Amino acid sequence: MRRQRGPAAVKSLPFTPILLRPLPHTVAPFPNEKLDSYRRRLAAANQLPDYRNIRIPSRWLLSPLDELERLELLSGQSRRTLLWAIPELRHYDPEIAPPLKYSTNLNRRACDRCGWQAGSAGQPIYVEVRGLHDNVCIRHRRWLTGGKTDPYEQIDVSATPEIVRAQILVNRLERRLGISFFAPRYRLCERVWSEIDRRGLIRTERDAIFQRIYRPDPNKLLDRFGPVQRFERAARFPQTARFTQFILTQSRQPKEERAVAHLTGVIHLDFERAFPMDRRPRSITIPWLRKLLVDLVEAVATDPLESRLRETNRLWLSHST
Ligand SMILES: [Zn+2]
Repeated sequence: MRRQRGPAAVKSLPFTPILLRPLPHTVAPFPNEKLDSYRRRLAAANQLPDYRNIRIPSRWLLSPLDELERLELLSGQSRRTLLWAIPELRHYDPEIAPPLKYSTNLNRRACDRCGWQAGSAGQPIYVEVRGLHDNVCIRHRRWLTGGKTDPYEQIDVSATPEIVRAQILVNRLERRLGISFFAPRYRLCERVWSEIDRRGLIRTERDAIFQRIYRPDPNKLLDRFGPVQRFERAARFPQTARFTQFILTQSRQPKEERAVAHLTGVIHLDFERAFPMDRRPRSITIPWLRKLLVDLVEAVATDPLESRLRETNRLWLSHST
């Protein structure tokens, strides 16, 4: 008996319309995950080479759904979960999750161990960095911020509790002052501190930490701009955190008291007490340092910060030798 055939397939249509439907395997989004990273992981979990083809199945049939609705449908995750986890989606529904107050647009890999625990199965997860102060996974004691080469290698800092404590300190400052106030001020303090560090005035502590975290490859020459930079930044982090706290404390005094402190050089004395110098600097360095500290405290005290930033940068660069 002949099988009854259905209607013949229409071959003249230039496309096969496909409707979006939930993918067989879902993936939970990671906190602060980048949209691209989530899409890639969702595609990989379903063994699809490219997310774009799932998202826009047809070039001719335009989908009336927005990015968030499409992702809800494909992933099967709730709207609330997606909105809270992925900052880039928040503008679609600020009622549920308000957009971030401070955005760096910088991304890095999430802590690999946190990723494994969240079920990443070894797939890299990229997250948005909260600010330049966001460097360490406290739970797993890992330095996460990348360097110029091999940016994804994470450093085990369990042998240096100072670095973990520094992250706890800056997190506390961030919570107390608010991210949009704290993050740009930390960035400024970090730049100034690295300039002080570059002159080799206060190095003992950071060198000792560096020795404990950096294991050079004996077969390679030391590369100043390679992975070492990342270790140096990690080793500097405890001092940078304390320096930021010091400057913030100074800047919170009333304007009149600050003016007196600047005139009498009290800030500089307090600074030397908090950060003892390894050696007496050259005679021109002390006035430079004193002016740098005064300008930095005033810049940090000013709100908004941006107008003062340029001035401080100019001062900072013009005296660089
Ligand atoms: Zn972790």
